Amino acid sequence: MTRIENMEEIEGVSLSYGIPISEVLFCEFNRTGVWLELSQVPITHRVRFVCNDIFSEKSTYFALPVRKRSETRFMVDKYGRLMFGSVILGNTSYLEEDTCDCSYFRKDKKILNLNSHRRGECHGCVFCIHSYDITILNDREEIIGEKKIREFLKSFLKKNGFKDFSHFEQIAVVTGLFGSEKSAVRHIADIRKVAGELNFSGSIFYLGCELTSKSALDEVKNYGPFSLCYSLDCFTQRARRLALNKKDVSIPSIIKILEYADKIGLEVTFSYVVGLDPIEDLFKGVNEISQFVNRFPIVNIYQTQHSSQRRIMAPGAQSLDYYLRTRKFFEDVFVRSKLRPHNWENYRSLWYHYFGDEHLSE
Ligand code: SF4
Repeated sequence: MTRIENMEEIEGVSLSYGIPISEVLFCEFNRTGVWLELSQVPITHRVRFVCNDIFSEKSTYFALPVRKRSETRFMVDKYGRLMFGSVILGNTSYLEEDTCDCSYFRKDKKILNLNSHRRGECHGCVFCIHSYDITILNDREEIIGEKKIREFLKSFLKKNGFKDFSHFEQIAVVTGLFGSEKSAVRHIADIRKVAGELNFSGSIFYLGCELTSKSALDEVKNYGPFSLCYSLDCFTQRARRLALNKKDVSIPSIIKILEYADKIGLEVTFSYVVGLDPIEDLFKGVNEISQFVNRFPIVNIYQTQHSSQRRIMAPGAQSLDYYLRTRKFFEDVFVRSKLRPHNWENYRSLWYHYFGDEHLSE
């Protein structure tokens, strides 16, 4: 993997692309990972932390692979400072191993991210770390069925000192495959019912690939506010790269799903992994599918921990240019819309504090 060595190079790249220095740095950071001076988390595992960086008042949450010292220019030093070479980029807090915890907060505790169906046990997508055995799994308890969901949500409220879910904007279901559309719909219905008993009236966000029929979309719409983020992941080699339930759905079929979801009034978008497709296929695919969304896509930088994951990277994706060209392309596609990325919903994003020239407020 080629990497940027110093601030002069970062400034040069920033100038030539017209992308702010903070953004170039954090894209490079997410791509190349971090070395931990105190080895709090083993190399090849994942670490997560909050960073108050020198570029913004806002704090940013990062989750990324831990590297050897020789593999990255980014380090969290013994004082908890995030460094690029000898340049201090900010201070970190809440540093811990990134496991498949069942659930966690996003957006100042207004969103509950629910990994209810054991993402750590899900296999099949060749780019996904869960298809390898080197991550620390911490999600063997599934939260399926009304009884388990009720127990979990009540204990979650108690543990975090909340009386109910009335102030939550969203419950996000980001989890492993359910095995069938029927099971996915049932789970969404159960969450709506049980969370509703606890005064939740926000939206349910589902990131997955198992809601594909019109009847399923009609059904989830009837339960209350719903956001669909179709996990598209890549445009090319889908049959070779994706888990069973995913590979059977073609790109034209995904477009029909998004189109219908939008037509019946759902919030709708897709998630995508930057680093898998040849860049021309990426441009073509994004250009086409973006016409059918009403929410900015979840665009993830491809992070690798295992050598097999690196072997399937697209030509050019070993260098930062591929990611910055992709960033510029998405900006061109979405600049005339009101849709923008949100810092709180993606920990390996192509955007941090700016989208084009615009400062991102959330
Ligand atoms: S569906 Fe694929 S990407 Fe998602 S958790 Fe399972 S193996 Fe990973």
